[in-house]
Order: sequence, then C-alpha cells, then structure tokens
Amino acid sequence: MDKRHVVVIGAGVIGLSCAVQLARQGYQVTVVAREIPGDYDIDYASPWAGSHFRPVPATKPEDRFEQELMRETYREMEDLADRHPETGIQFIPAIEYFDTADPAYCDEKLVQENGYASWPGFRVLRSSELPAQYESIKLGVTYTAWVLNSPVYLKWLKDEAVKYGVSFIRARLSAIEEAVFICKERLSASGTDEVIAVINASGRGFNDPKSFPSRGQFIAVSNPCQRMISHHWADGSTTVIIPRPLGGGTIIGGTKEPNNWSHSISDTATVSILSRAFTLCPELVGDSLDNGSSYGLDIRQVYIARRPMRQGGLRLEREDLAFQDTSEDGLRNVQNSIPVIHCYGAGPSGYKLSWGIAKRVERFVSEI
Ligand SMILES: Cc1cc2nc3c(=O)[nH]c(=O)nc-3n(C[C@H](O)[C@H](O)[C@H](O)COP(=O)(O)OP(=O)(O)OC[C@H]3O[C@@H](n4cnc5c(N)ncnc54)[C@H](O)[C@@H]3O)c2cc1C
Repeated sequence: MDKRHVVVIGAGVIGLSCAVQLARQGYQVTVVAREIPGDYDIDYASPWAGSHFRPVPATKPEDRFEQELMRETYREMEDLADRHPETGIQFIPAIEYFDTADPAYCDEKLVQENGYASWPGFRVLRSSELPAQYESIKLGVTYTAWVLNSPVYLKWLKDEAVKYGVSFIRARLSAIEEAVFICKERLSASGTDEVIAVINASGRGFNDPKSFPSRGQFIAVSNPCQRMISHHWADGSTTVIIPRPLGGGTIIGGTKEPNNWSHSISDTATVSILSRAFTLCPELVGDSLDNGSSYGLDIRQVYIARRPMRQGGLRLEREDLAFQDTSEDGLRNVQNSIPVIHCYGAGPSGYKLSWGIAKRVERFVSEI
C-alpha cells in the first residue's frame, strides 16, 4: 500500500526532528531545504547554537505551553542519551546567576506554582554559594541541564531520518507551495504516494511580517568545562558558558541583537565576551593563566548567527493553503489546497522545544 507522504520544509533542528518523528510513525517524508546538516550560513541557526537546556518560569499561558514542549523534549533527550550515546547528549550541572532577584525565580511558593522548581536537581543557591568576585549577583540557581554538540547532533538526526527512509532535496524555495510541486514531480517519477501535508519548519517562515532575526556573536574555544554557567547582567545581557560534548570544546556567548542584520564580527564584543567568561569561570583556563587579549582561552572560532525570532513567539498551527495547480489536460488553472503545519519562529529555544514541537506536528498530521 502507498504511504501517506509529508513534505518538510527545512533541515534545521525543528525540520529534522519533525522528519524523524513522522517517519518513525510510518509516514513517507521528503525534506526540502536550502541548507542541510554540514552546511553553514548566518541564516541557518541550528549548527551555531550553544544547544543547552535552560528553564524559565511559566508566568503566562503561552509560557506554560512552551514549558510542556520543553518537558517533552527533556524526556526525549534523556531517552536518546541512554539509547544513543552517539548523539553526544550529556546531562551536566548548570548554574545561573542573576543580578536581579525576580521572585518568579526564587520565591519558594512561586517557583512551585510556575514550574521553575520542577526540573531535575533544581535548587536556589545559598548566598554563601554565590561567587565572591561579583557584588552585583543577587540570586543563583542550579539544576541539571542537557547539552549537545549541535553539528554532530544534526548529522545524527539526518542519518536517523535517512534510516527511516526520509529523502532530502536541496532547493531554495520562493513559496511554501513550491515545495509541493517539487515533491510531486519527484513522486510522479517514482510512485503514486499522495502528498497529504507540508510542514513549514523554515526558521523565519515565508514573508511573515512578525518574523525577525536576533543576531548573536558567540565564541567557540578548545578549553573544556564540566558545567554550564551563565550570568544574567542587570543591563539585560547574558554571559553563557556551554560545554560542547564529543570534542567540541566550549561555546561562550554572547550577544542578543534583535533586528541587527550586520554580518561583521565586533572585535570589541569579542574581548568583552572573553573577559566576562574568564572572570565567571576561572576553571576554563586552569593554571595556564594568560592575561593577553584572549584571557588564556584557546579560540577556535568567533562567529555571528541569527536566531529566528517572531513577535508573539513560536508559530505552531495548521493552516489550509490554497494554491493554483494545472488541470489534468494541462490547459487550465485549477484551485488546489493543502494543509500546512507551521512550526517556525523558535527564537533562542529551538533545541529546547524541538521534540515537543515534533510530537505536536505529528498529532496535527494524524488528524488530517
Ligand atoms: C548563537 C546561537 C545560540 C543558540 N543557543 C541555543 C541554545 O542554547 N538552546 C536552544 O534551544 N536554542 C539555541 N539557539 C536557537 C536555535 O539555534 C534555533 O531556535 C533553532 O536552530 C531554530 O531551528 P529551525 O529548524 O527552526 O531553523 P534553522 O536552523 O534556521 O533551519 C531553517 C531551515 O529552513 C531552511 N529554509 C529557510 N528558508 C528556506 C527557503 N526559502 N527555501 C528552502 N529552505 C529554506 C534552511 O535552509 C534550514 O534548513 C541558538 C541560536 C543561536 C544563533
């Protein structure tokens, strides 16, 4: 019997997770993407990500929905770490310091209500545990985070997809419906599967006025670190130190620059990021203290990438897309339509939400 065919636009962490999830459930899946694992581009966010888990309190209804997606992803990451060590997923201690003691992050009753305290290993740090080098820090928390090596993990997802029969087509699409035609042309040459849905996992979507980029300058260093550490400064900036398993060294971040389209690396930002990381985590450089401009950190790469942001957050919903097709005699235009499941605009959280999104997408498809 012919399988029901689903087209996935995008081979970032969201598109690939959807492809694997759908193919595991028996759908025939084709991924159409401009970039695939192994490629690097400023607008292909997934390979650049530090890729760590970071919880946030759920204070609004949409936060609660994201928390559910994060929980489903956390469980899947536990399972993958157990069954597939080659994914490189590791669970490690995480510490976060805050210059502002928001009650949503530390009030005993609130952290129970808003789900922040529900993550494995969660505890608010005692004041004696806060780092002496910063007077500004008002609050610290710890929990167990997962980390992974994004290029390795993306390659694993792609291999897993191929194992389940997913095919990949490289194409730069001008519109969602173009993917339907590209896929149908392939299918008519090989069989009669019916395309039943398109998954739009294109990062920033197609001409969505709510979508925008947030530029991030990050630094990959060889120095190893055994825990995830971050410091949220009073001015809204964040220093984050993320171990990258399987020989990936450590990722140090970084900047958050919404709507900044520049491709240029800022040398000033590089020095500031390194200096903050050096102070926050002296264990990164160990005994080999060096007060030069790289603070004893062995830089592999300084890079810029764009997070796929969206006003109102992630778009995860079904829409029926009407489009013009050609009649069977090839002479007339006929109206056609196809269900599209949008899943883009994951902003700074695509890895954290990936499996939760993929499972919701599969649910939408199963209802078609
Ligand atoms: C520096 C940095 C650090 C980050 N750290 C973390 C972190 O620690 N934890 C976390 O959870 N998230 C993190 N993120 C965010 C995360 O990387 C993104 O949310 C995630 O990668 C988004 O995945 P995606 O699949 O939606 O988009 P992308 O990875 O951007 O993939 C989009 C896909 O769609 C394809 N595509 C787009 N347009 C077209 C078109 N017209 N035609 C054909 N194909 C198209 C692209 O080629 C690509 O295959 C970070 C991001 C950055 C930049």
